[in-house]
Amino acid sequence: MLCPRDQTLLIEKRMHGIEIDQCPQCNGRWLDHHELDELEETKTKDTEHRSGMIDYARRESTLDCPICSKGMVAFNYRAYNLELDTCEEEHGFWLDAGEEGEVRDIIDDRIRGRNRAVKAEQAWNEFLDGVSGGGIWGSVRGFFGGRRR
Ligand SMILES: [Zn+2]
Ligand SMILES: [Zn+2]
Repeated sequence: MLCPRDQTLLIEKRMHGIEIDQCPQCNGRWLDHHELDELEETKTKDTEHRSGMIDYARRESTLDCPICSKGMVAFNYRAYNLELDTCEEEHGFWLDAGEEGEVRDIIDDRIRGRNRAVKAEQAWNEFLDGVSGGGIWGSVRGFFGGRRR
């Protein structure tokens, strides 16, 4: 398989336990279609953080698929400012040098964001429980009762 950027022969390598094909010239990596998911999985086993759409703002790429030579599609990975290339035949993904680190950072970011949301929800529930000991309905009744007096 040849590098879609500089046509150098790709070399099989291991990256975070995943077998990928790496270009010795530009350090770009080719991941088989299922291997992007495996790369995300190195950050979290929790599928919740890895769910949802991956390919935002799809557009024509300047690169050709190293497997079928068809023009690939460039997209913004998970709507972040990270452009990846993929083959529409689901042959795989092309990641330029360092982009696998950005993918992992984005998954970290999603985990942090999700944890923030969970914490906010917990705080809100504690607030509701704490208002009058009787939960929100008790406090609403107490509020109106107080006004009528
Ligand atoms: Zn290359
Ligand atoms: Zn292809």
